[in-house]
Amino acid sequence: MVATIVSPRVMRIGGGSVSGVAEVLAQFGLSRPLVVTDPWMVSSGTVDRCLEPLRAAGLRAEVFSDTVPDPTDTVIEAGVAVLKGGDFDCLVGFGGGSPMDTAKAMAILAAAPPGTKMRAFKVPAHADRALVPVVCVPTTAGTGSEATRFTVITDTETDEKMLIAGLGALPLAAVVDHELTFSVPPRTTADTGIDSLTHALEAYVSRRANPHADSLALSAMRLIGANLRTAHREPRNAAAREAMMLGATQAGLAFSNSSVALVHGMSRPIGAHFHVPHGLSNAMLLPAVTEFGLNDALRRYAEAARAVGVAGREDADQVAGAKLLEELRALNRDLAVPTPRGYGIDPDAWERLLPTMAAQALASGSPANNPRVPDEAEIVS
Ligand code: NAD
Repeated sequence: MVATIVSPRVMRIGGGSVSGVAEVLAQFGLSRPLVVTDPWMVSSGTVDRCLEPLRAAGLRAEVFSDTVPDPTDTVIEAGVAVLKGGDFDCLVGFGGGSPMDTAKAMAILAAAPPGTKMRAFKVPAHADRALVPVVCVPTTAGTGSEATRFTVITDTETDEKMLIAGLGALPLAAVVDHELTFSVPPRTTADTGIDSLTHALEAYVSRRANPHADSLALSAMRLIGANLRTAHREPRNAAAREAMMLGATQAGLAFSNSSVALVHGMSRPIGAHFHVPHGLSNAMLLPAVTEFGLNDALRRYAEAARAVGVAGREDADQVAGAKLLEELRALNRDLAVPTPRGYGIDPDAWERLLPTMAAQALASGSPANNPRVPDEAEIVS
C-alpha cells in the first residue's frame, strides 16, 4: 500500500510557544499577518498573547475577529474582503477549530477566480491552492486543525457542512501551546477532548489506515485516554493539559494522513442542522458507531482499548473490544454527554431531517472509510 503523508513544515510545540509566532513567521520571510480569531479571544484579551509578541517583534499585525462557531460561507467571504483589502502576506488562525478553519478557507477562497462564492466548493471538495500561507495556533485541544489538510465550512443556504480537503487547507506551520487551554471551560474541554479521541480512533480503524498514521493515532489514544478526565476536572493541571494538546495534534496528523469515518460523517449534519458543538455530536455517536463496526475490525478496536488503557495484553480481542465500548459509554456518563433529545433537539425535526442528514453523511465520503460501511437505512436507524 502507498500512503502520501503530509504535515505542516514547522510545528513549534510546548508551554509558552505562543510568544514565538513571530520567529516562525520570520523563518518563512513573512511579516504582515492578519490574525483570524473569534470575538471571545478579543474580549478576554487572550489574543493579545499572540499579538503582543508579534508587535514587539516589529510586525504590523491586524485582526479579523468576526468568526463564528462552525464557520459559514458568508463569514469566509467577509474575511476574504478584509484579506484582499489589506497588504497581508499570511494568515494566523488563532482559536479553536472554528477560527483556524476560517483562516484556511479564507486563504483557499482568496486563491479562486474573483467572484467565486464559498458555496462553489461542493462536497466533497478539493483545494490545493491558497493565496497566502496559514499558520495555526490552537486554543482548544480538540480538532487538530492546526495539523490537518481539511477545513469545514457551513453552507448557510443548505445548512450543509462542506468538507474541503487538500494542500490548500494544510497550514504552513503550527504553534501548539497547551497553556492557552487553561481557560477552556469543562464542557468545551469534554467536547473537544472526545473530538480528538474520535479522530484517533477513526484514523486507526479506518480502511485508509497506514503505519505512519497508526503510530500517531496510538500515541494520541494513550495520551487522551490517560488525561481527558483529569483535564476536565482540573482545568489548570498543566501535565494533563499538555498531554491533551499533544494528543489532539497527533490525532489531527493521524486522521489527516488516514481518514475519519462514520462518526464524523454523521456528526457534521447534526452539527449543521441542530447547532450541536462538533465534539459533542461526535460524543453522542461514538459508542453506537463503535458497536456497529466492532466485529469488522476487532483486532484494531482491541488494540485501541489497550492504548486507551482499559485493556491489557492478557485480554483476548473480543474482551478488549467490549472493554473499549464500555469505556466510551463510561466517558460519556462521566463527562455528562447528553442524548440528542437531552440536548434539546426537537424529536419531530430530528425525524424529518434524518433522511437529509443520512444523504449528507454519505455524500461526505467519510462513512466509506468505516470498518463496516453502512447504507442509508442503517445510518437512519
Ligand atoms: P470552536 O473553535 O468553535 O470554539 C468553541 C468555543 O470555545 C468558542 O466559544 C470559543 O471562543 C471557546 N474557546 C476556544 N478556545 C478557548 C480558550 N482557550 N478558553 C476559553 N474558551 C475558548 O470549537 P472547536 O471544537 O475547537 O472547533 C470546532 C470546529 O472545528 C467545527 O467547525 C468543526 O467542524 C471544525 N473541525 C475542523 C477539523 C479540521 O481538520 N479542519 C477537524 C475537526 C473539527
